[in-house]
This record gives sequence, structure tokens and C-alpha cells, in this order.
Amino acid sequence: MTEHRSIDSELIEALTAAGDPYLSCDDCFEQTDVAVESLLATDGHLDDPFRVHLLRCPACHDEAVSLAELIGPELGLTPTEATARLDAELVREGAP
Ligand SMILES: [Zn+2]
Repeated sequence: MTEHRSIDSELIEALTAAGDPYLSCDDCFEQTDVAVESLLATDGHLDDPFRVHLLRCPACHDEAVSLAELIGPELGLTPTEATARLDAELVREGAP
């Protein structure tokens, strides 16, 4: 079997190798509100465990995207800008 590795999977492996910051979906879900809002409101950054979980978990990623679309307009962003901000943060360079 030939292994095809994308940039994304290498990035995720690099991230998870650094201390294995992996949350359960429940833990992730509890943080989604606060994490997404503070990211969009303050130009802050997501916690690495949260970020890595979103990269690895399509369900929680969808949840975070929906939330970004919902609260973006409250913070002066269009839904598109809000989700772009979230996605940019997820693949941010220089992260541990
Ligand atoms: Zn999850």
C-alpha cells in the first residue's frame, strides 16, 4: 500500500506530536462558544488543544464554523469573514 501524505496530515501530525493536545468532543464542545467568540472579538488565538481537535474532528469543526457564522455579525464581521478568520487560525503557521 502506498502512503500518500498531504500537507494537512503532516501538519496535524506535527501538532499532535507536541504533547498530544487532544480533547474529547465533549471537552471541545464546552469550549467552542468562548473560544470562537474570543478569537473573533479580540484577534486572539485558539488554545492549541482546541485548535488541533478542530483540525481532526469534522463534527466539532462544523460546529465551530456554524458558531462563527452566527456570532460574526455581532462582532462586525460578515459570516464569510468570520469563518475565514477561524480557518486561518486553524492552519496558522508557527504554531507549536
Ligand atoms: Zn470533536
